[in-house]
Amino acid sequence: MTCDFDVIISGAGPAGCTAALALSSSGLRIALMEKEKFPREKVCGDAIPAYVPKVLDTINSEYAEAFKGLAEKAEADVCRIIAPDRKAIDLKFSENGFICKRQVFDNFLLDLVSGLSNVTVFQETAIRDITIKENHALILAGNDILVTAKLAIGCDGSGSIIRKRLAVTKINSGEGSVAARAYFRDVKDNPPGTLEFHFLKELRPGYFWIFPLPGNMYNVGLGMPSITISEKKINLRKEILRIIERDPFLSPRFSDAEITGEIRGHHLPLLTRKNGISGERFILCGDAASLINPATGSGIGQAMQSGRFAGWQALKCFEKNDFTAGFISSYDNTVYDKIWHENRNYLFIRDHVFKYPWRLNTVIRAGSKNKFIYKTILKALN
Ligand SMILES: Cc1cc2nc3c(=O)[nH]c(=O)nc-3n(C[C@H](O)[C@H](O)[C@H](O)COP(=O)(O)OP(=O)(O)OC[C@H]3O[C@@H](n4cnc5c(N)ncnc54)[C@H](O)[C@@H]3O)c2cc1C
Repeated sequence: MTCDFDVIISGAGPAGCTAALALSSSGLRIALMEKEKFPREKVCGDAIPAYVPKVLDTINSEYAEAFKGLAEKAEADVCRIIAPDRKAIDLKFSENGFICKRQVFDNFLLDLVSGLSNVTVFQETAIRDITIKENHALILAGNDILVTAKLAIGCDGSGSIIRKRLAVTKINSGEGSVAARAYFRDVKDNPPGTLEFHFLKELRPGYFWIFPLPGNMYNVGLGMPSITISEKKINLRKEILRIIERDPFLSPRFSDAEITGEIRGHHLPLLTRKNGISGERFILCGDAASLINPATGSGIGQAMQSGRFAGWQALKCFEKNDFTAGFISSYDNTVYDKIWHENRNYLFIRDHVFKYPWRLNTVIRAGSKNKFIYKTILKALN
């Protein structure tokens, strides 16, 4: 089968769906190709930043309203950081974030996209190859689909085929993190709306998290830099089980808890330096562009921001009929202008605070006693 589109988007996660939504009233013919069948699970902590509805709102207020109406989500208003000495600080968000299983959230986004008349969604159709020709991108998808498009937007996650084939800078997986999570029912003593980050002395600079979902369910996980995991030969699954069975502080909270499903892990491509994230006839977004926050591991917000910017960049390309690397590179500037400054603070916090238990202990103690330090921590963690 051969088909022709104006834009092809690979991957229907938050980045891909947001890119498609940003092109909703463009009149462009768009193919959104996704290798899985939705609703599908995505290994994640399921914490959605407060600004996500705003990203949707800048595209179309109806999308933000629809997100408000999404029932299967909980709100989070506090981030509790527990230092290695087990002293805690509660940081109150200025705006509530959300916790929603990715299976639900990603399906919600894809439902919005499926309602668009200019977008054709192909599920269970993996992109297998892409090459750039003189006037188009040529994509091989599924078993036998050959697609031509003026522009490709790569939103196919950490193993992005678009990135592998086209980007000049390759992802160095040693610079990333790995995290694993499981769902639990009936974890004790989690105050409503509180995201818990436990920094354990033996597992630095990573953290163990407990995020409350609706219906007495919890997303529980552990994440660490890949390099530490391989150097110290850490098995995240075993560590999660050890913590909930034997950690003197945490195990009592799991005495009545029941795990539902498996512990599953995944790689996180972190934003540790500015890479080229576009080129002739292609743009990368979200995990494919390696945009995950290096300290917190959050990437849903950046995926949606970059997806939106990619959609808007695509509009400019068609307006000017210019798909050259030079013209498209303004997309890189837009993305990094938005997130790099804040990201630099997080890199600093990861490398100079999280790595050293005594420093983290000192900062948390000082923040609990002193309003100015509390506000500085809150600002640094945004
Ligand atoms: C354990 C863990 C916990 C995390 N916790 C959080 C958290 O709490 N909050 C947060 O904000 N972020 C978190 N993240 C990061 C977050 O999951 C990602 O940053 C986010 O999913 C990126 O969105 P995306 O759309 O770029 O990629 P993805 O969500 O990975 O979506 C990519 C899509 O592309 C599809 N695809 C892949 N290859 C192909 C192909 N060849 N052809 C077609 N389709 C393809 C995939 O099936 C998938 O649907 C976590 C990550 C991990 C691993």
